[in-house]
Amino acid sequence: CDFALSSLVADVVRSFAAQVEGHFEFELRLADDMPPIHGDYERLRQVLSNLISNAIKYSPEGGTIRIGARAEAERAVVYVADQGIGIAPEEHEQIFQRFYRVDNRLRRQTQGSGLGLYLARAIIEAHGGRIWVESQLGRGARFLFTLPLGRRQLTDHEI
Ligand code: ATP
Ligand code: MG
Repeated sequence: CDFALSSLVADVVRSFAAQVEGHFEFELRLADDMPPIHGDYERLRQVLSNLISNAIKYSPEGGTIRIGARAEAERAVVYVADQGIGIAPEEHEQIFQRFYRVDNRLRRQTQGSGLGLYLARAIIEAHGGRIWVESQLGRGARFLFTLPLGRRQLTDHEI
């Protein structure tokens, strides 16, 4: 299905509005020249929801959560950046493994199954994209993913 990335972001941000109200600020940076995305809206909504719910869970109150989308040559780049506890470089790959949660008992008590990022990577890779994190401990985290933008191949029955 074809849809505008900006609609997806607006939709997900709206779904968090009540929960975030008075605790965090959202700052959106959405390029307005984005070609439509060919993909599974509900699955990609799940990816963005998990990234935003993580940004909320792993940040102290009062911070800003930045969400951006822009088009590069043949791909869209989307990011969710927070000002939270951050992730040490040696855990940047492990956090995408099934059931993996960073041992942050001393920092913050949080609930979770450790599946969100595992599923996010599976969904993004199924769309031909990539997902990764840029972060240092104590310095916030920026999760980025890409989605290919090129022309979709028509299936036989559409020709
Ligand atoms: P679930 O998403 O299944 O409810 P979860 O949030 O613990 O549980 P993931 O979303 O897969 O699982 O994240 C895995 C781990 O990566 C988290 O438990 C946390 O330790 C770390 N992590 C994820 N996002 C962030 C973030 N924005 N800042 C700091 N740590 C993070
Ligand atoms: Mg999560």
